[in-house]
Amino acid sequence: MKKLAMLLLLAALLAGCGRMKTKAPEVTETQAPVEWRERSVFAMDTLMQLRLYGGTEELLDRAQERIFGLEERISVTLPDSEIGKLNREGRACLSPEPLALLDSALSLCRETDGALDITVYPVVKAWGFTTGNYRVPSARERDALLAAVDYSEVQILTDGEVVLPSGAQLDLGAVAKGYLGDLLCALLREGGVEHAILNLGGNVQVMGGKPDGSDWRVGIRDPAGDGLLGTLSLREGAVVTSGGYERCFTDEDGNLWWHIMDPGTGMPARSGLVSVTVVGEKGLVCDALSTALFVMGEEKALAWWRARREAELALVTEDGRLVLTPGLAARFSPAGNLAYTLEAADEEA
Ligand code: ADP
Ligand code: MG
Repeated sequence: MKKLAMLLLLAALLAGCGRMKTKAPEVTETQAPVEWRERSVFAMDTLMQLRLYGGTEELLDRAQERIFGLEERISVTLPDSEIGKLNREGRACLSPEPLALLDSALSLCRETDGALDITVYPVVKAWGFTTGNYRVPSARERDALLAAVDYSEVQILTDGEVVLPSGAQLDLGAVAKGYLGDLLCALLREGGVEHAILNLGGNVQVMGGKPDGSDWRVGIRDPAGDGLLGTLSLREGAVVTSGGYERCFTDEDGNLWWHIMDPGTGMPARSGLVSVTVVGEKGLVCDALSTALFVMGEEKALAWWRARREAELALVTEDGRLVLTPGLAARFSPAGNLAYTLEAADEEA
């Protein structure tokens, strides 16, 4: 509310300035305040918030329908979803949207050399991350499950039918929100919206800067608590964080385990990183990378960044460092009480 009051005040001041310049004191109507509308949607196990400047309620209805529509088709926990059916039957024809997402996800699995592997789902289930009934599967159980983990064995036939190898199951959860962010931005743009900020639970996507011409400011969460590492200013693009803190449990021996898996070992990824933030143009790519680079660890993540330069990174390490790539350093304002040592990533290894 405070922000709205500020905006109204600002709009009133601007309107006042405008009147003085036009030398038309008889004009009394005030300039309309900048109008925004907001919608909260609970989907994909997370609270999503869409805020747009301009647009209509009807456009927000359409955005909401797209969110629920995608969830209904790809959710692994809905047995009647297209992915649910594929996982149950080993083959299924997918409709265009899940098929496009699957196709892009498989490319990203290849590009990250399997650090992202959308067939890791049976392992995620065995650890109880889908139900909350957490347990540590034995090495034997993990090995048996890993035998069916291999994204490169997933076949997409020319008629849109997808075939899984025996025992394999898919989960698009590591990329779904990023993909959704991209398609919502496209939908809003087509609907005439120029400025928007979407928070899809850990995935933030912004469009067109703020209506006053300044950049959006996006907070990056401190993996060690409820506070922020700092804020990032950004006009356009996606900011996606994968953190061990999001879904985790402590076993009876006091070990902490989280929901990001190393598809090589069938264990939660212990790479020395506790959170990875990826900033780039596309939500889908940032989402895939945030998960994959978390699995890779600092060294490989930075090598990946040096080779590709497709996105900027903020890595929080287990030993208390916050490593920023140069493109981010310039846009990042650290929190006043930052408990990490700020470090700039070397451009060359
Ligand atoms: P969140 O969904 O919490 O924002 P991520 O985007 O990092 O976090 O996705 C993590 C989800 O993806 C997990 O809940 C799990 O279902 C799945 N997953 C975990 N590890 C991997 C992996 N290495 N490759 C692909 N999917 C994974
Ligand atoms: Mg992800």
